[in-house]
Amino acid sequence: MSTIQPKAVPAPALSVLFSREEIQERVTQIGQQIDADYKGQSVVLVGVLKGAAIFLADLARSISVECTFDFVAVSSYGKGLNSSGAVKLIKDLDQSVEGRNVIVVEDILDTGITLGFLHQMFARHRPKSLRIAALLDKPSRRIQKISADYVGFSIPNQFVVGYGMDYAERFRNLPEICIMPPDFPE
Ligand code: 5GP
Ligand code: MG
Ligand code: MG
Repeated sequence: MSTIQPKAVPAPALSVLFSREEIQERVTQIGQQIDADYKGQSVVLVGVLKGAAIFLADLARSISVECTFDFVAVSSYGKGLNSSGAVKLIKDLDQSVEGRNVIVVEDILDTGITLGFLHQMFARHRPKSLRIAALLDKPSRRIQKISADYVGFSIPNQFVVGYGMDYAERFRNLPEICIMPPDFPE
């Protein structure tokens, strides 16, 4: 029999936006939709490090069609809450995705600058198809015109952490998605 050590709640407490059950239910639904859309085919899930790592891990296990993984890393928000506006590729794909069904797996579609950059970059590989799965979408923040084909939840303009998403690299391991209060200490 195995036991788990409950995780300490960070202080001050963070309010839960989506529980682990809500996340799991939604991720399972997206997996089923991907199975229906790619029946009889295979897909490459391209995770955007590090925020999408946990979403990709759960999504991949909700998918039955043949699938492989790859990962890219881009510079984004640095330590705090604000974007620098510039995207830099830090880690490229390990393998070309030419002729493959690519699903870019991202934690949050916010201004759209990151996914706009990545979409353009992957399109140059001439994949068979190119879609985006974003766990969260903040449509009110969009600067670049881009939308996700699969969206977990649309949320208002709040900064969230947990389930892979960080604040200065912290809180990625929270199983829930929580709201980060604007006055949270560094
Ligand atoms: P975008 O380029 O669309 O503005 O945002 C890109 C990235 O910023 C997201 O993939 C995510 O990594 C980060 N980001 C945007 N909003 C949030 C948020 O509320 N919480 C966290 N932790 N990261 C965010
Ligand atoms: Mg991200
Ligand atoms: Mg971050």
